[in-house]
Amino acid sequence: MKAVCWQGTNKVTVETVPDPKLINPRDAIVKITSTAICGSDLHLYNGFNPTMKQGDILGHEFMGEIVELGSAFKNGNIHDKGKALAVGDRVVVPFTISCGGCFFCNRDLWSLCDNSNPNAWMVEKVMGHSPSGLFGYSHLTGGYAGGQAEYARVPFADVGLFKIPSDLTDEQVLFLTDIFPTGYMAAENCNIQPGDTVAIWGCGPVGQFAIRSAFLLGAERVIAIDRVPERLQMAKEGGAEILNFEEIEVGEALKEMTGGRGPDSAMDAVGMEAHGMGLEGFYDKAMQAVRMETDRPNVLRQAIVACRKGGTVSVPGVYTGFVDKMPMGAFMNKGLTMKTGQTHVHRYLQPLTERIQKGEIDPSFLVTHTLPIEQAPHGYEIFKHKKESCIKIVLKP
Ligand code: NAD
Ligand code: ZN
Repeated sequence: MKAVCWQGTNKVTVETVPDPKLINPRDAIVKITSTAICGSDLHLYNGFNPTMKQGDILGHEFMGEIVELGSAFKNGNIHDKGKALAVGDRVVVPFTISCGGCFFCNRDLWSLCDNSNPNAWMVEKVMGHSPSGLFGYSHLTGGYAGGQAEYARVPFADVGLFKIPSDLTDEQVLFLTDIFPTGYMAAENCNIQPGDTVAIWGCGPVGQFAIRSAFLLGAERVIAIDRVPERLQMAKEGGAEILNFEEIEVGEALKEMTGGRGPDSAMDAVGMEAHGMGLEGFYDKAMQAVRMETDRPNVLRQAIVACRKGGTVSVPGVYTGFVDKMPMGAFMNKGLTMKTGQTHVHRYLQPLTERIQKGEIDPSFLVTHTLPIEQAPHGYEIFKHKKESCIKIVLKP
């Protein structure tokens, strides 16, 4: 089959590789109809994960049709919570891999599954404990082959695969695999109360869904921050007031817009590769280059300082290691709460599908590019450099 393979920093190629095979009884093989490139893939593309190996298959946002099921399904002995699966079913695949039976899955904390990362020992050394395995996301999270390919093996398929109503298009449901639940959980993590103002740094795909989710959850105002004109424009179309961080001092502007109090919650939808301004931006780039810090927390610092007293900082943006110069004094003295995590995608599949069906949101608004999978290398380049007004790319295998 064809697959998008990581070859090194800033290099992906489309290769012919062996088709995936069933390994465990609860596996499924999915023939992929649509798959997307995520901002998280850029961290790998940009070379920030030392556990990528040449030839690794990328991709964690994918959907398609079940073409094979493991023996557990045939024997009818699978604990499937009423979701009997059959060959031919059209499904979306959560990017987080969850067993469905451990302490964490039982508490609805799917991205913290204890049984899906065979390389948990690597993460434990750095983080104490490991989150779940993830598709196409380095050997730190299990080394699973990803879904930017013609086929993928899905472990714990009985728990993960989610059948899609036939009246919805791929573009309407594909983002249930990651960024729609991610934006939504990030908005939930803002603890939005009626009348609230939410500030969101980053108008990439995650930020776009966070803006719309914040309104779905009752926010009165959303202030969105970025510097890319078409991303700011899309944020505005989603109902947000917008700030260009290259043109104004964001902290001052947020104060002014909220009568001096600051936004009720502040969301970092940018993560470890935030663009920093001035001396601080230079400092983080230099520290990251010499590996004195792994991540650039420019936005996280701003969010903590800008958030109103007693407010909530929500962090969907990905961090992998250590950050420097955290304004811990502001965080503590202002009595802030921080909520974060890889998304518990399984938790949101049913409720967000219902919102799509009811017409409360149509996720296909986000797609700016649809490319055949052979053009994935071009896709990574334009997405990374925000060329051709690229906001979200769907690849068709
Ligand atoms: P993206 O790279 O397309 O978007 C990031 C946006 O942030 C860009 O538009 C960029 O211009 C903007 N930005 C950069 N520096 C900024 C600054 N200083 N202030 C304001 N905006 C700034 O990525 P995306 O797909 O939207 O993903 C965003 C983040 O969410 C990434 O870190 C990604 O890894 C993460 N993510 C997390 C989860 C999860 O489960 N928690 C899931 C998916 C993605
Ligand atoms: Zn993603």
